[in-house]
Amino acid sequence: MTGPARLPARDFGEIRLAEALERGLCPVCDARQEAVYAALRGLAREGATDRGLRAQMDDGLGFCQIHSVGLARMELLQTSSQLATAVLLDAVLRRRLKAMKKAARGDASGQARWLGEHADQRCPVCAGADEAARTTARRLLELSADAAWARSLGAAEICLADLYVVWAAAAGATKEVQARWSAIVAVQLERLEGLETMLAEYAHNSTADRRHLITDEQQRAAAASIRLFGGSPDRDRNR
Ligand SMILES: [Zn+2]
Ligand SMILES: [Zn+2]
Repeated sequence: MTGPARLPARDFGEIRLAEALERGLCPVCDARQEAVYAALRGLAREGATDRGLRAQMDDGLGFCQIHSVGLARMELLQTSSQLATAVLLDAVLRRRLKAMKKAARGDASGQARWLGEHADQRCPVCAGADEAARTTARRLLELSADAAWARSLGAAEICLADLYVVWAAAAGATKEVQARWSAIVAVQLERLEGLETMLAEYAHNSTADRRHLITDEQQRAAAASIRLFGGSPDRDRNR
C-alpha cells in the first residue's frame, strides 16, 4: 500500500499504474490482465473475420488452455453466444489436424522432434500479456525517478514473478536506474522478510491444537503470500 499522497501521473497508463499500486495490486499483473481482456474482447468481436489472424494461424498460431476458455467466456458475456469462438477454434483445429496427420506419418524420432517444436501453443493473448508486462516494467523503471513513485514501488505488493521481471529489466538498464532499483529491491526484500516471519508463525499455529492462536496479522500474511505467488489481478472484473 502507498501513503496517503497521490502519485503524480501524466497520462492514462500512469494513472492506471498508480491506481493499481494504491489498491494494493501488483501493477504488472494488472497491466497483463488489462492486455488479456482487451485481446479477448477484440477476438470475440472481430477475430472470426480477421484475415491477418487467419494468416498467423497458417504459421502455427493457436490458443492456450486458459485463453481458449477466456475467449469463450468473454464472447458469451458480450454477445450471449459462442459463435466466434467456435469459428476460431475450428480454424485452429483444422490447421492443427493437418499438421498432426503429417507428423503421425513420420517415424518416432521425427514425431518426438515435431512434438518438441510444437509444444508451445503460440497463443497471441499470452504474447500480448507478456508484451504488456515488459512495457510496464520499463515504465516503472522510468517512474521510479520520482521519489513518491520510488517509495510506493518499495512498499507495493509486486508479485514474486513480476518482481523478478522488473528487477531483471532494472539490472539491464543504466547505472542510474540500477542504483534506484537496488534501493527499491532492498525495501521489497525487507517487506518479504516481514511477510515470511508472519507466514511462518501462521504455519506454526495452523495445527488443530494451536488454531485459536492465529492472529489477524498472521491471517493477512497467509492471504498476502498467496497473492505474492499467484499474482494479484482484480478477480471481480468481468469486462
Ligand atoms: Zn504480478
Ligand atoms: Zn494464452
